[in-house]
Amino acid sequence: MGPKVVYSKDLISSDSKIKPVYDTIPLVKLKEDEVLNIEAVAKVGYGKEHAKWMPTTVCAYKQYPEITFNEDVEIDYDCAQACPRGILKSDRRSKKIKILDIEDCAMCKSCVRASDNGYINVGFRPNDFIFRIETDGAMPPKEVLLKACDVLGEKADKFIRFSEEGGSK
Ligand code: SF4
Repeated sequence: MGPKVVYSKDLISSDSKIKPVYDTIPLVKLKEDEVLNIEAVAKVGYGKEHAKWMPTTVCAYKQYPEITFNEDVEIDYDCAQACPRGILKSDRRSKKIKILDIEDCAMCKSCVRASDNGYINVGFRPNDFIFRIETDGAMPPKEVLLKACDVLGEKADKFIRFSEEGGSK
């Protein structure tokens, strides 16, 4: 009974396994003596039906960067200064350029362009990728990835069966 704010945590489910993902979502503000009588239905939805059911907010991959130095030419500290992400750090004492966080490299090659003598080279590992998934909290990223793999596996099986049956309906 009001006055109060009704939050998602106030929803009581008849099934103990069903509960709000977040407890602190305000649903309605009640005035003095107001009472809320509400019946809510929890429904499983799929992203292919509507974007509101997509659990991912970010899903992207890039190839794994690989930075190498040409030891046959003079060390070129200018290339470290050119990195917009601060990934390269000149260490004049040890006469080296350190790579601070290879996974943050955008492979923009600003460092390569800044080096007149070809001291640095930026490429990528052919078989390694950095895959990033961020979710809205409805499901953990690992669960999203595993479920996506299951769906891909099922689709591949379906395609194989279809091909083995002659490819026609
Ligand atoms: S490729 Fe770009 S982000 Fe990567 S180290 Fe060079 S300048 Fe920095």
